[in-house]
Amino acid sequence: MKKQYIIPIFVPHLGCPNNCTFCNQKTISGQQKQITEKEVVDTIEYYLKNFKEKEIEKEIAFFGGSFTGIEKNIQKSLLKIAYSYKKAGIIQGIRISTRPDYIDKDNLKMLKHYGVTTIELGVQSTNNYILEKCKRGHNFEDVKNASKLIRRYGFILGHQMMVGLPESTRKDELKTAKDLAKLKPKIVRIYPVLVIKGTELEEEFKRGDYEPLKLTQAIETCKDLLLFFERQKINVIRIGLQNTDVIINPEKEKSEVVAGPYHECFRQLVESAIWYERIVEKIKSFNVRVKEIEIKINPKDANYVIGYKRENIENLKKMYNVIAKIVQDTKMRKGKFKIAILKKYTDFLDE
Ligand code: SF4
Repeated sequence: MKKQYIIPIFVPHLGCPNNCTFCNQKTISGQQKQITEKEVVDTIEYYLKNFKEKEIEKEIAFFGGSFTGIEKNIQKSLLKIAYSYKKAGIIQGIRISTRPDYIDKDNLKMLKHYGVTTIELGVQSTNNYILEKCKRGHNFEDVKNASKLIRRYGFILGHQMMVGLPESTRKDELKTAKDLAKLKPKIVRIYPVLVIKGTELEEEFKRGDYEPLKLTQAIETCKDLLLFFERQKINVIRIGLQNTDVIINPEKEKSEVVAGPYHECFRQLVESAIWYERIVEKIKSFNVRVKEIEIKINPKDANYVIGYKRENIENLKKMYNVIAKIVQDTKMRKGKFKIAILKKYTDFLDE
């Protein structure tokens, strides 16, 4: 996928009539009041000034709320600003996110008029029982209808799903991924549920009625989801909530996260877990006990291959008694790797 710069504009859905049990939208978007036109322009200008590579495509993305649920005139005033940058050729894309039941032909026509290119739908689950449990207020039928309409109007379709919702199992989440793939989104975001202060979910958690996923469980499910979407050629553009001033480690005083599988580098943990499995599988396929290996990779994969705080390298040593040396080579294709045996166990015994 082509590299693209994103200019994020957070639009809290103040006065949202819905009451999703996991949501405290002001907290998640990191913003307490409605954004002004001046703030939008200032944000866009700030990002444009600070992008290093000027020729890379840019997109203005309205995040944080149900865009088509906010007042029409606010939507128009925000879109007008973004559209003026698009018409001038300064940015190439405009993205919004919204709920499936807030999509109809009229608002799609309006979004088209203002140059919107991508629409992301907050789906969360395709299981109606789970949607009801977390009081989403829409069902899977709404997701199907909205997805079809969005694609028919020529927008890029995105889906957002959650992992670890009340009463949701790993099986439900894999089923959600399969259901979504059939609706042909181009992009997907995966959010493990965090218990946020001031939400109904917090009360359920405190009563002992909801048990959040452990970090390892969330990583395992997200790993399978990521592999599944990759096989379907669907781009997973985010795994884990964006860190903000308050979406931080629950142990920190300012944190609004009460519990759940929070990690500041959640995606790295998921990607690294996939690399670890691939490397171990390859080592096993040698059918000889190895002591030292060289793993050749593209530099862009290095962080994921090495693991968070060198976890993969340490685990290879601890679990398999293998010393791994990483060689970064720009000639290697991203996502590919080669393993050479530097020392077998028998060589080591001979020494
Ligand atoms: S997650 Fe639910 S409650 Fe929160 S802003 Fe979206 S629709 Fe409203």
